[in-house]
Amino acid sequence: MAQDYDVLVVGAGAAGIAAARKLTQKNKKVKLLEARDRVGGRTQTINFHGTPYDLGAQFLHSASINPMVGIAEGLGMTVARLKMDWNSSRIPDRYGNAERREIIGTIDAFFELMESPQDQDISVGALLDRLPDQTYRPFVEAIWTWISSREARDCSVLDAQRYNDTHEDWQIPTGYGHLIKTLSEGLDVSLSCPVSVIRKTVSGVEAESASGTLRAEKVIVAVPSNLLIRGALRFEPGLPAGIREAVESVPMGNAGKLLFRIAKPHPDLGKSARLRVSVTDPGTPSYHVSAFGAPVLMGFFGGASARDLENAGTDTWADHALEGLKALLGSDIEKHLADPLATGWTADPFSQGGYSAATAGLAHLRPRLAEPFDERIFLAGEHCSVDFYSTVHGAWLTGERAAGWACGEGL
Ligand SMILES: Cc1cc2nc3c(=O)[nH]c(=O)nc-3n(C[C@H](O)[C@H](O)[C@H](O)COP(=O)(O)OP(=O)(O)OC[C@H]3O[C@@H](n4cnc5c(N)ncnc54)[C@H](O)[C@@H]3O)c2cc1C
Repeated sequence: MAQDYDVLVVGAGAAGIAAARKLTQKNKKVKLLEARDRVGGRTQTINFHGTPYDLGAQFLHSASINPMVGIAEGLGMTVARLKMDWNSSRIPDRYGNAERREIIGTIDAFFELMESPQDQDISVGALLDRLPDQTYRPFVEAIWTWISSREARDCSVLDAQRYNDTHEDWQIPTGYGHLIKTLSEGLDVSLSCPVSVIRKTVSGVEAESASGTLRAEKVIVAVPSNLLIRGALRFEPGLPAGIREAVESVPMGNAGKLLFRIAKPHPDLGKSARLRVSVTDPGTPSYHVSAFGAPVLMGFFGGASARDLENAGTDTWADHALEGLKALLGSDIEKHLADPLATGWTADPFSQGGYSAATAGLAHLRPRLAEPFDERIFLAGEHCSVDFYSTVHGAWLTGERAAGWACGEGL
């Protein structure tokens, strides 16, 4: 039977866009099917009171080996080569010098433990049990949720050890989401077109979507792992058991941002300020002031706290944040912050969470997602990257890889 397309790509996030671009360059007839009314997935740059701001991905992690740096610069976009010092950034003044040293010491001890060889695929939480001093463990637990979006007790150390981190986190002043959106220009995309079923037929594949059934020779499915795990998109016949098991081993946790407009300058809200409200609360956020001088304070929340605050709604989330900021900077701070805006990545039916992290004991399964398992159905997305999962560039590279498979490379 004649097919409508050579390849259907489901999901126009970084992975799907990378796949569609590569296939288009190879003269394949490609259709990108996107559930939302916008492209970009977990990248989205908005105009926040006159300044571009990323609601999802913001940092070009492992920047010197991150292909998105060259891609952005090739399009004439500026990439700001900023130095981020994530761990020792400002710790509340109420902690004296001795305590500060202990806090930094605990963080350093944790990262040393994370690098130590492990015989077994234990959890990050089990590794935390080995910290000689547990006083500031909750702070390390919070840091872990910012990194992985899941709680330490659930995450695999071996999976974390495979992640290739060069500790360079650069930024695009006009937005990471803006870059990904720009990269989708010229592609054949159908928006507001959720796919519910991928069906293998005798001669190809079918995708049942909001716009009807589309047929192609092959399909690349680039939707977040939680959607596959929860059956938001089904396969007929089902995915092979080993692949399903691998997808289930890399669920996404929760990650959320709360933005405030800095309505009135404040000495502690200067350019590049990073603030830590508590070192004893595992749900504490990390606050960043825009590195580019824009009057924006962003709180980054991870894990269960991100989910619970998202569920509570913007007003409750903002009140909770202001309580912490008042304790850190004084009650006057409230007068300096206005117009809170909260993200909703967990409730969003087309992301259903933050980013993937392998479950402790199951780190051996993710690599299965980096191999083709079928001649017509291919998976892509950050969860399919072994060394750059949870990132945009990881997603991008899996999209390019899946496009190669769809062209017969490596099969
Ligand atoms: C708050 C937050 C902060 C982050 N910060 C960073 C960061 O600083 N740096 C970094 O590199 N990464 C960061 N990430 C992670 C990064 O955003 C993701 O790893 C990356 O964008 C994932 O790309 P993807 O293409 O795999 O998935 P997605 O971007 O989620 O794209 C999947 C696409 O599939 C679509 N879709 C879903 N279901 C269907 C369906 N049934 N039919 C059709 N389409 C469907 C979705 O709408 C979406 O467009 C962050 C994520 C969050 C949530």
